[in-house]
Amino acid sequence: MGDVPATIVFFHAHPDDETIATGGTMARAHHEGHRVVVVFATRGELGEVDPGVLDESEPLGDRRAIESQRAAAVLGAARVVFLGYRDSGMAGEDSNHAEGSFAGADLEEAATRLAAVLREEDADVLTVYDDWGTYGHPDHIKVHRVGVRAAQLGGTPRVYGATVSRQALRTVITNLRDALPDAPDPDELDLGVDEGPITTFVDVTAYLRQKRASMAAHATQIAPESFFLATTDDQFRAVFGTEWFIRLDHTPTERETWIL
Ligand SMILES: [Zn+2]
Repeated sequence: MGDVPATIVFFHAHPDDETIATGGTMARAHHEGHRVVVVFATRGELGEVDPGVLDESEPLGDRRAIESQRAAAVLGAARVVFLGYRDSGMAGEDSNHAEGSFAGADLEEAATRLAAVLREEDADVLTVYDDWGTYGHPDHIKVHRVGVRAAQLGGTPRVYGATVSRQALRTVITNLRDALPDAPDPDELDLGVDEGPITTFVDVTAYLRQKRASMAAHATQIAPESFFLATTDDQFRAVFGTEWFIRLDHTPTERETWIL
């Protein structure tokens, strides 16, 4: 695709997923002159939030929609779309089956909603997640399924699944644990995939200022003292300097370093 401006749609389950999984790629695409659109399946209504963060009777989904707009501004996204489903909660919870939940949504109906955006935008690239949603959350798995189908319906030629390299994460976290006692235990992290199927290793070290600022915009979910934001710049670079993707559109792909 080279230097021709493209449109890339980043499809995510909940506000803040876009910054953590693909924020550097979004910022880089914008910086290189491409149109960046982010679509959320839900407003993350069931996220955990510390007492006192929300105003009295303020719905979390409303605040998270505002946070999404702020993060999008930092990352250079031209448009934020909500498909209008509800957060399904973690695997096994009753909310998975609640009325309007994304996990319980009809696949074809949800894909049709996303395909309408892909057509409107004449999208060149769509990103979703790997087929287990990186960590098994039902809404993330559904993003994969709905996204792959929507790309077929919408005629979007390039599809990538955002993922995490299990090996890279284990190495980084093991190295950081002495300095950051709050870092998760790599043996307990059931996150990401083996590196074999990963096709695309995007170096986002030039965009970490935007990535960190966009995470901070999601203040209900990522507190300033959290592991993500309490890191030094060097530590942040070690954890977040690469974003990983698996090409999903059945185009044979050698190991590559960019998605456009
Ligand atoms: Zn999520």
